[in-house]
Amino acid sequence: MPYYIFVAGGVMSSVGKGAATASIGRILQNKGYKVSAIKIDPYINVDAGTMNPIEHGEVFVTDDGTECDQDVGNYERFLNESFTTDSYITTGRVYQSVIAKERNLEFDGKCVEVVPDIPNEVINRIKKVGQKNKSDFVMIEIGGTVGEYQNLLFLEAARMMKLQNPKKTLFVLVTYLPTLRIIGEMKTKPTQTSSRLLNEAGIQPDFILGRAAYPLDAPRKRKISVFCNLDPKDVISAPDVDSIYEIPLNFEKEGLGDRILKKVGAKAKKKNGKQWEALVKKIKGNKKPVKIGIVGKYFETGDFSLMDSYISVIEAVKHASWANNRQPEIQWLSSQKFETKDASQFKKLKNFDGIIVPGGFGIRGTEGKIKVIEYCRKNKIPFLGLCLGMQLAAIEFARNVCNIKDASSAEFGTKSRNLVIDFMPEQKELLRNKKYGATMRLGAWNCEIKPKTISSKAYGKKIISERHRHRYELNNDYRELLEKKGMVMAGVNPEKDLVEIVELKNHPFFVATQFHPELKSRPLEPHPLFKEFIKAAIK
Ligand code: GLN
Repeated sequence: MPYYIFVAGGVMSSVGKGAATASIGRILQNKGYKVSAIKIDPYINVDAGTMNPIEHGEVFVTDDGTECDQDVGNYERFLNESFTTDSYITTGRVYQSVIAKERNLEFDGKCVEVVPDIPNEVINRIKKVGQKNKSDFVMIEIGGTVGEYQNLLFLEAARMMKLQNPKKTLFVLVTYLPTLRIIGEMKTKPTQTSSRLLNEAGIQPDFILGRAAYPLDAPRKRKISVFCNLDPKDVISAPDVDSIYEIPLNFEKEGLGDRILKKVGAKAKKKNGKQWEALVKKIKGNKKPVKIGIVGKYFETGDFSLMDSYISVIEAVKHASWANNRQPEIQWLSSQKFETKDASQFKKLKNFDGIIVPGGFGIRGTEGKIKVIEYCRKNKIPFLGLCLGMQLAAIEFARNVCNIKDASSAEFGTKSRNLVIDFMPEQKELLRNKKYGATMRLGAWNCEIKPKTISSKAYGKKIISERHRHRYELNNDYRELLEKKGMVMAGVNPEKDLVEIVELKNHPFFVATQFHPELKSRPLEPHPLFKEFIKAAIK
């Protein structure tokens, strides 16, 4: 039976529970254990697919096509493993299956109640992951912040699991310690309060990870130890870092891995941290920059800009840059700023070594992206298009090279008669009935790569598998014309004959994919297309 480690957060959201969960997993993996991870999201949504990225950040997609929280991406990147739909639990999913069981008379006529039936369903799901993956450790991150109403039932499930397996279940609380500029002292009170809120749910944390601008000093650790009722050695510093991949090393500096093993009565099976140490050394050693511009629209929220919406793209750029011995300098370019005739706006693009147009939904910002793509095409700036970025590359080419002036996508609701991007017939019926859930091409699909293309050089093989998340496709009626005018259909899905990659010749690097290669990039295994793109950018 595996060990279970629950990670909850206190004080505020966005303290980095996901990176902390993934990092603890990595530490245990480095000690020779098999680790799985689960993200629990407290909202009613069944999956993350129907949420706006500005509200929720990136929607990550697993091989089996689950649209889930971006933290699952963190787990995959840190653990270098692929997870499935089982690694994602939401309130919606839990209630949905309890109600389905009730309708099937699976409760034998008993009254079905919120407690214990909902926590029991959560427990069953957690155990299933451990069994299916034959894990030694299952990391469970509980979304939200302790003290809020939404995640109470999940804390209840955690408490019940501890009761069932006291020696095999641990709790980690990730909190935040603010340092007010005028006072100049790091304060522990919010951490104390959070720990008490966790106690109210019947849970005593085994570890407290103190997120802060700096490492926690001895007096801070002592205070937290006394007021939160744990050994000062179990109060672990989690200071701000330049790269999240440093976090496992920081935790290890404080002995977290051995403390965990000691608590559950296990010993390290082997020492396997070298690869990760080498990675961090490489990350820190690179000085020379490579400048990449990302043209998107999900950055701005009020006076702030968010990077979360494109986290996998950012991480993939980083992995590939490090692999090419460069330090990435990423800049956000708001697509709507390019909906202009002002040439100086476009000249700025020449400051970049490469430009990415990532995925997106809806018409807003698309004309600006098309202009950027045109500029990259004409000025030979290395260009990587991802999903919507590929669709717009095809539209740009159709308009400006094939002379189909009104080329567009069915998604944009224009009156265009030339839908170079359109949906597949079988989807039309679903959409007509407003069934937006599950009308997308999701998860892993095969792609056959054409020889002698940039993609074939990058991948070095003929059949690849990549993850998808989109509703529309390149319309095969236009394929011949696009090809005749010089667009290369460098990758095609063999089962449904759908275009997966387009490229241009006579250009240092112009590649656009219908799939999302960024979802499979890992720090220890950078993605081949991103690596090739960065290589071209450096050149
Ligand atoms: N909006 C486009 C589609 O649905 C592209 C999706 C994406 O970029 N992920 O096909």
